[in-house]
Amino acid sequence: MADAFSFSLQGTDGAARLGEFRTPHGVVQTPAFMPVGTQGSVKAMRHRDLEEAGAQIILGNTYHLYLRPGDQLIARRGGLHRFIGWPHPILTDSGGYQVFSLAARRKIAEEGAEFRSHLDGSLHLLTPESATDIQARLGSDIAMVLDECLAFPATQDEAARSMARSLRWAARCRARLEQIRDGQARDVGATNPGQAQFGIVQGGVFQDLRDQSAEATFGIGFEGYAIGGLSVGEPIDLMYSVVGETARRLPEAQPRYLMGTGTPEDLVECVARGIDMFDCVLPTRNGRTGQLFTSEGRLNIRNAKYAEDEGPVDSRCACYTCRTHSRAYLRHLYMAGEMTAGALNTLHNLSFYLDTMRRIRDAISLRTFDRFRQEFLRSVSRLSLDS
Ligand SMILES: [Zn+2]
Repeated sequence: MADAFSFSLQGTDGAARLGEFRTPHGVVQTPAFMPVGTQGSVKAMRHRDLEEAGAQIILGNTYHLYLRPGDQLIARRGGLHRFIGWPHPILTDSGGYQVFSLAARRKIAEEGAEFRSHLDGSLHLLTPESATDIQARLGSDIAMVLDECLAFPATQDEAARSMARSLRWAARCRARLEQIRDGQARDVGATNPGQAQFGIVQGGVFQDLRDQSAEATFGIGFEGYAIGGLSVGEPIDLMYSVVGETARRLPEAQPRYLMGTGTPEDLVECVARGIDMFDCVLPTRNGRTGQLFTSEGRLNIRNAKYAEDEGPVDSRCACYTCRTHSRAYLRHLYMAGEMTAGALNTLHNLSFYLDTMRRIRDAISLRTFDRFRQEFLRSVSRLSLDS
């Protein structure tokens, strides 16, 4: 079952790549955007809304699912896909990012990260081995290694030490997954024998560290490779440059995932630099606060100027929200605190993101990606329609 995951590169246009990967729960076309389903649910969305919007894969957060309802409970219910009723591919993170965000409530050592639950203050230890076991019980199609999340700014020495620790942790995660695959860890109760595991390249904004990390992570050997530790406050041009240079060091025959990024502009700019997979909370989080992404820029539905605006959020969008409702009605729902405001706004934002990915894939396949990129950035990167 170790080859249940496979990636095929189907075309390129410059550094942009068109491909697809196969998982035990279906095929995902790349470049792909993964909506974030923190608690086994993409906030305010029903799964059928996600399917209609074109989501082929969602992301689950290990930290949250481990604490509540618990990975053991989910394994007893047959794994995450079955528990949440989503039969399509799922990627889980390692839980590390949330633990590192706990700041005062966590302690990091070589063994792993000790932390206190944000729910009840209980003490837990997340190690490379336990992060692997938890994800094996959840049974996601793609599991991520536990890595150390470095804050920005960091000195080169700090970044080097952290990168080296992440490599040692990556090797431990891989060794643990191999034990599980070989049947030496039956007590873990893995629910998806075809689960793939991705390594994560670290190294802050220091390209020589990124290069070392990419080479050593590839040396351990994973089904795919992620670039972590970006979009943490560094200047955008530096982020793009690190993404481009690092992607060039990663193997062509495997998928490349840029973690936790970004804006619609970031998606296009990072596809142009060779990235295949993205996740970000922006479309869902901003949907709930009334900020909507459109083909002409962002708008804030709270703005009084939409109070009697009969037009749809985006005249070029075919989502249910845009087909059915006016900006005036959406503004009213938001101002009245109606639950449907979050749902309709999130549906539009995710539809816009997923439609952007479809247009990106079409442009790469027609080898017109560069023209698409110029036109997209011209129309979308106006910061706000409200200013
Ligand atoms: Zn729409």
